[in-house]
Amino acid sequence: MRILIKNASLVFEDRVEKGDLLTEGQRIVQAGGNIDAPADQVIDGSGCFVFPGFIDTHTHFDLEVGSTVTADDFISGTKAAVVGGTTTVLDFATQERGMTMMDAFHKWSKKAEGSSCHYGFHMAVSEWNADRIAEIPKMIENGVTSFKMYMVYDNMRVSDGQIYEAIQRLAKEDCIIGIHCENDDIIKARVRELKAAGKTSSRYHAVSRPNVVEADGVGRLMDAAYLAKGPAWVVHLSTREGLAIARRARERGQEVYLESCPQYLVLEESMYDEPDGAKYVMSPPLRSKLDQEALLEAMGTGEIDWIGTDHCSFTMAQKSAGKDDFSKTPNGGAGVQNRAEIVYTRAVKGGFIDMVAMGQLLSTRAAKLFGMYPRKGVLQAGSDADIVIFDPDAPHTIHMATNLHACDNSPYEGYEAAGMARDVILNGELVVAKGKLIAAGRGEYVRRDRCGRYRK
Ligand SMILES: [Zn+2]
Repeated sequence: MRILIKNASLVFEDRVEKGDLLTEGQRIVQAGGNIDAPADQVIDGSGCFVFPGFIDTHTHFDLEVGSTVTADDFISGTKAAVVGGTTTVLDFATQERGMTMMDAFHKWSKKAEGSSCHYGFHMAVSEWNADRIAEIPKMIENGVTSFKMYMVYDNMRVSDGQIYEAIQRLAKEDCIIGIHCENDDIIKARVRELKAAGKTSSRYHAVSRPNVVEADGVGRLMDAAYLAKGPAWVVHLSTREGLAIARRARERGQEVYLESCPQYLVLEESMYDEPDGAKYVMSPPLRSKLDQEALLEAMGTGEIDWIGTDHCSFTMAQKSAGKDDFSKTPNGGAGVQNRAEIVYTRAVKGGFIDMVAMGQLLSTRAAKLFGMYPRKGVLQAGSDADIVIFDPDAPHTIHMATNLHACDNSPYEGYEAAGMARDVILNGELVVAKGKLIAAGRGEYVRRDRCGRYRK
């Protein structure tokens, strides 16, 4: 099978160039120049930008949170992902207490069967002890080279000392650990205080975890990584205060990777006052315009490394568990389909970044850090034929009913997007044509190499 894309703007790592691209089997055979080779399928790319397939570094499909399970499993979640231009998701397999990492790996591998885009796993660990540490080589062998720890959530929380040890241990293997940075004790105290005062609606979710609660966590992570002499990766950075602390850590020579999410670029705290405010209950919470602008500017300067969605969807019925107590609302929102169109509309059209930076933020840097480069994340001969043809002039309104998410709400409901992924090629096969999914279930497991620590 050969697919030829003609007359497109090809987005390379450092430039955009008009030209053609040819795939054969599961690989790109030529990217750039004028190609007049026979092909089974010829796609007119004029007016469109061709990117390496987008990589979503942060999803939670089929995740049990207490007694409820996310609305999206891998089947619906990866359909939504690929229609939005994402050809690989990195989901968080979760090692619950009492479980081994291998147990979690097998459990998630099973969940992900039948996915419509490629998938890999970060391993979220709830314990750090000799038994878990002994499993690290096995994880690497299985292609899991990134991990995660939480400073919050009673079932997952680890201590700062464990974070320090994990950074130190994993750095030796060129693996990395991402940290959910917030101050759990202060959040708990504020939740008690708000509830005692009868302040139980969704807006108080944000009040319970203000900017400095994140900044405190980012600060503790930076210091732990500084002493451990290893890399620090902040997942879902949402505040200008947290950004400032990460910036200072870089100034003192630290290797820092920053992820942010679309919700922190376009949604804001005042939305908790809407009638369906519960759909915005996620952690970190929505912030202010000032935070949005700081993050967008940091995308422009290259300080933010990549954008993941933190897709973690719940129906309004599930969300209603918190109608009399915001702290009982399951945390998270649906967004895996909408990442590229939002980043394009808000950051590119908004003048904060160019198309090259969009490619870096949505694909290249994630491929590099997470051990997939140059198989993925770049348009060049020999790389995987995972490709997005993005139409920059396709105005449309985001609506939960046109999303493929198995979720009856969207935090981006009504958002006016300026462009969209038009066609998507996965493994050398056209799986999305003119915005419609035409081939499902084609995703494969991505066995990842050790991390490409490009800021080392
Ligand atoms: Zn998350």
